[in-house]
Amino acid sequence: MEKSNNIFDIIVIGAGPGGSIAANVAAENGYKTLLLEKEQIGENGRYKACGGATAWELVEEIDYPEDKISRVIESLELHHVDGDHFSKKGKGAVIWRSTFDKFLTDKAVNSGAILKEREGIIRIEKLADSYQITSKNDVYLANYVIAADGVTSPTLKMLNWPYFEKENLILTITKEMKTQKSFIDKILGPDTVHLFFGIKNLISVGYAWLFPKAETITVGWGNQINLIKNSREEFKKFTSLPFVKEALADSKMEIFKPHLIPVGLRPKLYDDNVFAVGDAGGIVDPISGKGIPYAMMSGMFAVEAIKFCEKKDKLDKLGIQYEKLLDRKFLRILKAKRTARDKIFQNDENLKKFLGLWEKYRSSEIIMRKLMD
Ligand SMILES: Cc1cc2nc3c(=O)[nH]c(=O)nc-3n(C[C@H](O)[C@H](O)[C@H](O)COP(=O)(O)OP(=O)(O)OC[C@H]3O[C@@H](n4cnc5c(N)ncnc54)[C@H](O)[C@@H]3O)c2cc1C
Repeated sequence: MEKSNNIFDIIVIGAGPGGSIAANVAAENGYKTLLLEKEQIGENGRYKACGGATAWELVEEIDYPEDKISRVIESLELHHVDGDHFSKKGKGAVIWRSTFDKFLTDKAVNSGAILKEREGIIRIEKLADSYQITSKNDVYLANYVIAADGVTSPTLKMLNWPYFEKENLILTITKEMKTQKSFIDKILGPDTVHLFFGIKNLISVGYAWLFPKAETITVGWGNQINLIKNSREEFKKFTSLPFVKEALADSKMEIFKPHLIPVGLRPKLYDDNVFAVGDAGGIVDPISGKGIPYAMMSGMFAVEAIKFCEKKDKLDKLGIQYEKLLDRKFLRILKAKRTARDKIFQNDENLKKFLGLWEKYRSSEIIMRKLMD
């Protein structure tokens, strides 16, 4: 353990969007940074269950190459199983997470972060003034730890941080269905994402979706975990809807993957030089399940908080500074959305009211301007 090249300023655990951006910003700011990822990233990245919908602003902000976008999206069709139908216009992109996450991880490496893939963390211990992290292959030391290892965060579990309440977890099922581009264009529309709602007759708290990728339809379903009776049967109910059945008629399943989405914050986001970032902290839109931009911003803010507090010699204020940055940008809104979510999914009447408003307004506007009241 004497090897000085195993001593870092910051160790980031998990090379998803949150961890990769954190490592990128840390390295750019001159911190000796290690990025530990348990999976193999390789040349092509690694598959992650995700709709892959991103706002066009994000694509532009990170200079994401257009040839890495699977589809450019212009509209969102909101189907309620009672027959009501809403359309929302807006430009976005659908990406494969393998390509997207690798793009961000490459950025971190190009900025000077050291990436160790296939090196999952297996132990973390607090020493007098640093953390000792044991991976599958080695032992490392760091002053700061950024836990960006997803909703189940092994890092925070090993540190005995409290986990999410059951009503703050959505169980999702994803199927990647390979088909022909022309078929997708004809049935779904070339640039349209479809979301399906219905509290009584489809999903009690959540929704289902068809996301068009170049030659694949990502079929997804997600319901609050403590309300699920039989996930496979409930998923089947969705795929039996006439429109969905038609869209999937000529397709072949390539991947099947369940995964959790946190839709409420972890009881704490910082403790003793450890930061919870992205899904590890439950920093996700509680209504839509959108998490990519929040993971990225929280990763950036964790590093900004370290930089600010070191400069001002206020290391006892790290947690306050981190939450202040999160709050200023979006945390306040996510908290308000968490409260609003209970009302929206209380009954179909409220849900349809929300879908009707969503046609015209951003969801944050609906909540902050209290348009549901
Ligand atoms: C079905 C589904 C659909 C979604 N659709 C969208 C969408 O369309 N748009 C959107 O914005 N968001 C979507 N989300 C949410 C989004 O996927 C997450 O919010 C986002 O991935 C969070 O990024 P992250 O970096 O926090 O964590 P993750 O992307 O989960 O990354 C965590 C990383 O940590 C690694 N790791 C885990 N354990 C260890 C360990 N022990 N040691 C080292 N590394 C470890 C993992 O391998 C992984 O690479 C969706 C989620 C799901 C489940």
